[in-house]
Amino acid sequence: MEFFTVSGLRSLKNDTDVRLSGWIQDVRVTKNLVFLIFRDYTGLAQLTVKRDGWAGIDVTSISRESAVSVQGKYLVKGMSKLGVEILLSGISVLNAAGTPLPLAISDPVISDVETRLDHRSLDLRKREVSRIFRAKSTLLWGIRKFLRENGFEEVQTPKIVAASTEGGADLFNVKYFEKEAYLSQSPQLYKEMLVSSGINRVFEVGPAFRAEKHNTVRHINEFTSIDIEMAFSDHEDAMRMLEGSVSGAIDEVMNEMGDELREIGLKIPSAKAPFPRITYREALDYLHKKGDAPPFGEDFTPEQLRSLGEKFDGFYFITKWPSALRPFYTMPDPEDPSVTNSFDLQFQEKEITSGAQRVHDPEMLLERFKSKGLDSKDFSFYLESFMYGMPPHAGWAIGLERLCMIILNLSNIREATLFPRDRNRLVP
Ligand code: ATP
Repeated sequence: MEFFTVSGLRSLKNDTDVRLSGWIQDVRVTKNLVFLIFRDYTGLAQLTVKRDGWAGIDVTSISRESAVSVQGKYLVKGMSKLGVEILLSGISVLNAAGTPLPLAISDPVISDVETRLDHRSLDLRKREVSRIFRAKSTLLWGIRKFLRENGFEEVQTPKIVAASTEGGADLFNVKYFEKEAYLSQSPQLYKEMLVSSGINRVFEVGPAFRAEKHNTVRHINEFTSIDIEMAFSDHEDAMRMLEGSVSGAIDEVMNEMGDELREIGLKIPSAKAPFPRITYREALDYLHKKGDAPPFGEDFTPEQLRSLGEKFDGFYFITKWPSALRPFYTMPDPEDPSVTNSFDLQFQEKEITSGAQRVHDPEMLLERFKSKGLDSKDFSFYLESFMYGMPPHAGWAIGLERLCMIILNLSNIREATLFPRDRNRLVP
């Protein structure tokens, strides 16, 4: 007898013998019948059996969430509200669940986020929770596909590092034998070294660690960074790759999960390239007219970003950020060196990506180190790759959890993280 999944049953003929593996979500007992609500990763089915059905086990005693293997006959015209009914003929309990359950699985998500995260493996049994991670995986697949089609090679760079990319702030220290080391905040330096090596276009999907003390709904201390770097390119080229990646991610999700997402009433934002653009200076002018703008050289406050987000409903770029607000490797605009060839991709008031053309001239890089108060000696391994014909290059970094949160309209980034790390949470 073949093993099936719940979603695979619908194409079968009436009375087909089937076998499935999954969990018992609920047990309902009536006068003559027992209904077991069975769940696997693809959906729910009702297993129906007479109360004194067969000389097997007492099905009413099976605890909720026990892992089972079941067999029976598929009923095409089943009476169940779930749409899928099986006349049960055999069941074996593979592993009984303990009682009571710390989280109810059959109810809608009502427990607070912290309780859910404490019992994450049970929480993930809820369809609306596991759906987030199916979507996250699909989004990432869409981006990987787009990047591969555009000549990017996937790479892996070290996550235990000796120097910081951003100059020492927000680093986690690691004791590395006799030396002091850090957890990588970003693969920035390594991906630049790789484009100098002749691999023209690289991307990486890996963890990034930020020892930011604040606890917000948009920050976690370990997130998944999707990074690209491309040789013989500028910020405009990188922005085009970003538009393609975000559209590719959304198209993939709509193709694979569109019906399901529409069914639950979720409106996925559209991402039609080119995305609107506004320069930092234009944004200042706009905010001045609204009566609340930062001085030149300062970042926007959340209120100011909200105001800009109202102007652009959806994805948009803020370009040409002041040098003071960007890291040392960012290329100044040759026509106006007070700003840089940089960009942030925003969705309403939320930042998703930052990117830029990078400095490729070693003299300029040395000056940039000085102006940021950094010691170039700490970066000698990186500087070497600039000495022998480093090509002009550009790139960006997207936070995968941030992107997922925005696209699925989640209120907290932790919802899009299997096992989040934040100021207070180190387990599970
Ligand atoms: P933010 O201003 O949102 O704190 P940032 O300017 O520090 O972000 P970058 O260093 O430019 O961010 O990182 C690139 C991208 O990585 C961000 O646009 C965001 O998507 C993601 N990211 C950065 N920090 C975090 C974090 N603590 N948690 C989750 N995602 C993050």
